Amino acid sequence: MQHAVESTTAPASSAQAPQASPESSRSDLRGMSFAAASASLAPVQLKGAQAAGTLSSAQVASAVRYNRGRGLSAAQWRSIQKTVGSAADGVVGPNTVRAVARWQASHHLGADGMVGPQTLGKLNAGAGGSTGGGGGGAKLTASQVSAAVRYNQGRGFSSTTVKTIQKAVGSGADGVIGPNTVRAIAAWQANHGLSADGKVGPATAGKLGVKAGGGAPVNGSRSQKLSYAKQHAVAIGLRITSTTGGKHAPNSYHYSGRAVDVAGSASKMRQFYWDMHAMRPTELFYDPCGGVKHGQDIGAIGGHNDHVHVAF
Ligand SMILES: [Zn+2]
Repeated sequence: MQHAVESTTAPASSAQAPQASPESSRSDLRGMSFAAASASLAPVQLKGAQAAGTLSSAQVASAVRYNRGRGLSAAQWRSIQKTVGSAADGVVGPNTVRAVARWQASHHLGADGMVGPQTLGKLNAGAGGSTGGGGGGAKLTASQVSAAVRYNQGRGFSSTTVKTIQKAVGSGADGVIGPNTVRAIAAWQANHGLSADGKVGPATAGKLGVKAGGGAPVNGSRSQKLSYAKQHAVAIGLRITSTTGGKHAPNSYHYSGRAVDVAGSASKMRQFYWDMHAMRPTELFYDPCGGVKHGQDIGAIGGHNDHVHVAF
């Protein structure tokens, strides 16, 4: 359900866009500076008071023509679309214009849907300069995006914290981390000297000035982390199936009191996996989600379909 929130933005379809001619618009711009072009083509500056999504159809059509006349490449538009949270198809239509207007409204810009010099400048600042070409750090694969969505969702951020993150990275601030947020995070990371993986891990959270929720002792001792793991498992409705006892591999961390096995519904085991993943465990095994050994993601190891094993 979390994904659905961000994907409700319908794809901006060139078919439904008014048939403005980019060529004739662009010819109007020839030889003019962006500032001059902006002044001549922007009929009204709505000064931020315009609520998102309340542009009239004439204003939308006008903004579509204006944006198409800006001479930006499809790659640049995809980057802008990612930042403003609309479908990144590289084609400027009404949906992109409305998403731009919403983004402008939340960035104290005139919410007219037109990507003029001021909006473009702010988009560049927020998206790591990626609208200037190249796409910056926004080139995650679909599986990297979904892994980052799960990782971020497992961090226990409150909805308020997620909104703070979204405003900082320039994605739609709806309080839910989905694919568009992850791509905006990756672009922001690339612009801040961080690994552009879209995951709000400790370094990114620190730079954003946000904290993971849930009271997880991410920087605590092994025993603090293990103790939290047991409490957290019970708190979310899982049961502890093994601590130091039971039958395990000969050198298992269970025998040194560093591991716990928990079991319950698949969705809760999944949640637990990603909550533990955010705590950088020594070992973490749950085959449907993957596995971690000495802090490295190693994929599923087998034999862990019906319980989650975690060791610190
Ligand atoms: Zn185990």
